[in-house]
Amino acid sequence: MNETILNTETAKTPTGEKETTVGNYFVSNYPPFSFWKPEFVPDILAALERPPAHNFFSTIEPRPSTTPLGIYLHIPFCRKRCHFCYFKVYTDKDSVAIRAYIDAALKELSIYATKPIIGGRTANFVYFGGGTPSYLSVDQLKYLTDGMKKIIPWDGVEEVTFECEPGTLTDHKLKAIREMGVTRLSLGVENFCDHILEINGRAHRSKEVYRAYGYARELGFPQINIDIIAGMVEETEANWHDCIAKTIELSPDSVTIYQMEVPYNTTIYQEMKVAGKLVAPVADWETKRAWVNYAFNELEKAGYTISSAYTAVRKQPGGESQESKAGGPSTSAQFIYRDKLWAGADLLSLGVASFGHLGGTHYQNHHDFETYLAKITQGELPIFRALTPTNDEKLIREFVLQLKRGRVSCDYFHKKFGVDPRVRFAKALQTLQEWGFGKIEGDSVSLNREGLLQVDRLLHEFFLPEHKNARYA
Ligand code: SF4
Repeated sequence: MNETILNTETAKTPTGEKETTVGNYFVSNYPPFSFWKPEFVPDILAALERPPAHNFFSTIEPRPSTTPLGIYLHIPFCRKRCHFCYFKVYTDKDSVAIRAYIDAALKELSIYATKPIIGGRTANFVYFGGGTPSYLSVDQLKYLTDGMKKIIPWDGVEEVTFECEPGTLTDHKLKAIREMGVTRLSLGVENFCDHILEINGRAHRSKEVYRAYGYARELGFPQINIDIIAGMVEETEANWHDCIAKTIELSPDSVTIYQMEVPYNTTIYQEMKVAGKLVAPVADWETKRAWVNYAFNELEKAGYTISSAYTAVRKQPGGESQESKAGGPSTSAQFIYRDKLWAGADLLSLGVASFGHLGGTHYQNHHDFETYLAKITQGELPIFRALTPTNDEKLIREFVLQLKRGRVSCDYFHKKFGVDPRVRFAKALQTLQEWGFGKIEGDSVSLNREGLLQVDRLLHEFFLPEHKNARYA
């Protein structure tokens, strides 16, 4: 942390609201999704007909010769809809509908597998996100993953991530998840207080977390991640401290912490609208940042390293990870899907409403279940909208995403895009320094802790003018 720059007494502050109001906070991609359009779908269809690009750069050896390929599958089923959820999820689908969905996803994957863009590549990483992937039964999971591996092999896969809702996990299911090749189990704990879980609409309770975590440990998953959220409805400082203590007691390999945001399509916003309220009934941004800062400090004391604005990874004494070989901190846990995506990997995204990126074009699938199934039944890819970023937009995308790790190498961008970020982003970087959140030192642009805690609102400084005040999603 750069103490000389972290001077809130003299620094000006960025524009931004103190209270939590409706809208997206988290920046997961660029240009904003609202600029992706149905009329650009021909772009992605054309991209699929081209061979994969040369792999420009990878910090992880051995370096493949073509762009790394990830597969993402959205499993849109949940036991209950959480009040803060903004994903496309269904709580009413029976086993027939789920089987139809799995068959559609497999067919979708097999259509992609024939395209030149895949070019015989095997998957470098696989991600099952949701929704709740662990909502599927053991039989459904086996059928799904056996089918996927037959279409695009997982032989060289470096990471398979699987998101779980603790209450859906039985010992039998966890064993099957381990056997299907999952390396990183991510438990959506969110909070350890049953009252807070209940009032926020979560389906699970804390005793299910402990049971699932204990058995997952026994099964020897290489990495277990715990997800928590700072600032849920009725969260208090005392509870938050207790939540962090309980997280550390479990000693997961990594912890992800998100600050509660209230996008438009959440139940919380619907209730605000009915009540005519502008401010969400959750902690304000300053409080959430203070809570995440507290969590990061406690995790550091417990031997974790902060590897991005949202992640803490446990250091392994004497252990050397691929990340440490590449010059990063010596840690046991990795986030391969994150690091590869943020460095421009291809992401073959499957399932309803999922977001992907292939051959330089972004795309998103149809967000309606029936439309998604119907398109696949007709033998068509279910793509709803797309966008091909310009080279400058690609540069901005990678730069803002990598800045979420707290440090960016300018040399990387110079080699890849032929542009020096210190020149391209001179104004935004100057602003960040004036606000006291970052510094440029030789090849690197870095954020201090205070900057990292609010990185998502700072990233807009790097956006093109037409994207700055636009709706994000
Ligand atoms: S479990 Fe996750 S995806 Fe499902 S409703 Fe809750 S937040 Fe949304």
